Amino acid sequence: MTWGGSVGGGFGGAPGGFGRPAVPGLPFAGIPPELQDGVDRLVASEPKYGEPDIVFEQNGSEQELKRLTLWRLLNKYPGMLLLSGLLVVVIAVTGQVGPKLTEYAINNGMTPGHYDFGVVVAMAVAYLVFILVAALGQRFQVQVTGRLAAWVMNDLRVKVFAHLQRLSLGFFTEEKAGVVMSRMTSDIENLQQLLQDGLSQLAIQGLTMVVITIILFATNAYLAFITVVLIIPALVVASIWFKRASERGYDQVRDGIANVLSDLSESLHGVHIVTAHNRQRHNVVHHRNVVGDYRDANNYTAHVNALYGPGTQMLGIIGQAVMLAVGGTMVLNHQLSLGALVAFFLYLNRFFQPIQLLVQQYNTYQQGQASVNKLRDLCDTEPEVMEAPDATVLPPIEGAIRFDHVSFAYVAGRPVLEDVDLTMAPGETVAFVGPTGAGKSTMAKLVTRFYDPSEGRVTIDGHDLRSVTMHSLRSQLGVVPQEPFLFAGTIGDNIAFARPDATDDEIHEAVERVGLTDVIDRMPHGLDTVVHERGQTLSSGERQLIALARAFLAHPRVLVLDEATSNLDLQSETKIEAALDVLLENRTAILIAHRLSTAMRADRIAVVDDGRIIEVGSHAELVAKGGRYAEMYETWVSQADVAGHQPA
Ligand code: ATP
Repeated sequence: MTWGGSVGGGFGGAPGGFGRPAVPGLPFAGIPPELQDGVDRLVASEPKYGEPDIVFEQNGSEQELKRLTLWRLLNKYPGMLLLSGLLVVVIAVTGQVGPKLTEYAINNGMTPGHYDFGVVVAMAVAYLVFILVAALGQRFQVQVTGRLAAWVMNDLRVKVFAHLQRLSLGFFTEEKAGVVMSRMTSDIENLQQLLQDGLSQLAIQGLTMVVITIILFATNAYLAFITVVLIIPALVVASIWFKRASERGYDQVRDGIANVLSDLSESLHGVHIVTAHNRQRHNVVHHRNVVGDYRDANNYTAHVNALYGPGTQMLGIIGQAVMLAVGGTMVLNHQLSLGALVAFFLYLNRFFQPIQLLVQQYNTYQQGQASVNKLRDLCDTEPEVMEAPDATVLPPIEGAIRFDHVSFAYVAGRPVLEDVDLTMAPGETVAFVGPTGAGKSTMAKLVTRFYDPSEGRVTIDGHDLRSVTMHSLRSQLGVVPQEPFLFAGTIGDNIAFARPDATDDEIHEAVERVGLTDVIDRMPHGLDTVVHERGQTLSSGERQLIALARAFLAHPRVLVLDEATSNLDLQSETKIEAALDVLLENRTAILIAHRLSTAMRADRIAVVDDGRIIEVGSHAELVAKGGRYAEMYETWVSQADVAGHQPA
């Protein structure tokens, strides 16, 4: 089995593609001949979607930056919206003709002196026809809104995901991953019901109430007026209270579920540590509290619903009782026909029916709106690191890096870097050494523009990083983090991550140059071997070598390398050091070194302490100087002696 198919197939991560093992760990035996015809037919029947035409703009297009509202999401589909609106009118009107036909049948076919079987039958048939039209309308309505909901949710998912891709590292450091996940899953799914039938039902019920009010006034203005004066104000007051209370409630419900999911995700990710430190009981207690808050929020909304729903129902019953007294007296005084009173009662019943449904739909609406608000907050979060509107494309660089009097703070008032000034020549490797928390990684993060300096500037070949496009900058940078991240997919996919268009030969060259050949040969399917998410099935040395091959293949001019702190056996360490030598050749490199043996290989060493560079020079120069580096070196030499190693 060759590796060829996987690169062209892009980085899908889904195992089971043709030419790849279907299940990790199991050899893929090919498609059995008797199934081949069926598979061919299936493949031929697949729609041809072609290459999607997607443009990703770092700052977001004008369309993408518009505030997220339900209406904006919906009005992208005016045709479906219009059709849905028309169907709403058809359903609301045709569904309310019945009582009028009943009134006509009673007054002209059933009252003494007016018996007419033909009128009764004609009205019954007409009733049936209108009900049929209403039912048909409903059928199409469900179809149209179902489709509309699917499209809107699809758009929303893509929009929020694209926004997440744009956000800076700072956002992901501060926001819990579980909360972001719950926005993308639970909050978006919560809109399903609202979009699918909530909004249309809300419109149908609202319109039905308007139609009925008109008919009531047309039937008997006096009786209708009493209804309006008695019921509507009470209904409005109750509805305003409900809106406020349920808004607050559903907001808490959304936060509650986000916290539950976030706690769950953290427990799952940290399961090793939880077990190792016997924190299971504590975790259960904590989760119980988080789930308890969610339960309380749900209880509150249930309480609000329980007051509003039956409350409006009671208003309806009071209205009917008054109607019976007033309307009955009018019939006795010959001010109203019996048919009109019956029709009035039927309509009044129907007036309150939509209110019940409206309450349910309004509930759905409030839930959906709470989700939209949460998603809007997420989409309104601006990336901390923005691309300048007039950013230019960084031309191919030589790789001269300069920290020009750079200061930086993650949190205002607590500087992490102070007045750092350092110049690196093209092709030079500078190792940053120093105590933990000194600011070494932060300096590297400024070069990759994960953050911008609070003061001063970072330049490459004289270009201030803030003046160039992020894409042009990062396409010339290579980053090897302390903990290499491997994505679910094949080893080949992972190596070609930065350059999915790389040819087989280029990938093989990268593998060979960083000394990964032995490792790949040991794998059951070579480069096609599937690694699980985060590469948990590989050793840390293997993961590091893959990350180095990935960086090698990207051919960056500038390399930022955070050395892994994990202890490797001597053989793996030698391998990785050899791979590093290949990788650093002719490149400007920042090497965050945790081992002095690595730092010594650099052209120069910068000693970072408490956010400042306190010494810079070659290994020999710094040892001769007798400063902080010399101290560190001495300690290291004595430790190595004790351990029986010979320092290089
Ligand atoms: P190490 O050798 O342990 O990797 P380092 O020298 O690379 O340490 P940095 O990661 O640059 O240190 O951190 C410098 C300081 O900034 C530390 O005090 C750290 O607590 C703080 N810091 C790092 N990241 C953040 C962040 N996202 N928000 C706030 N403070 C941070």
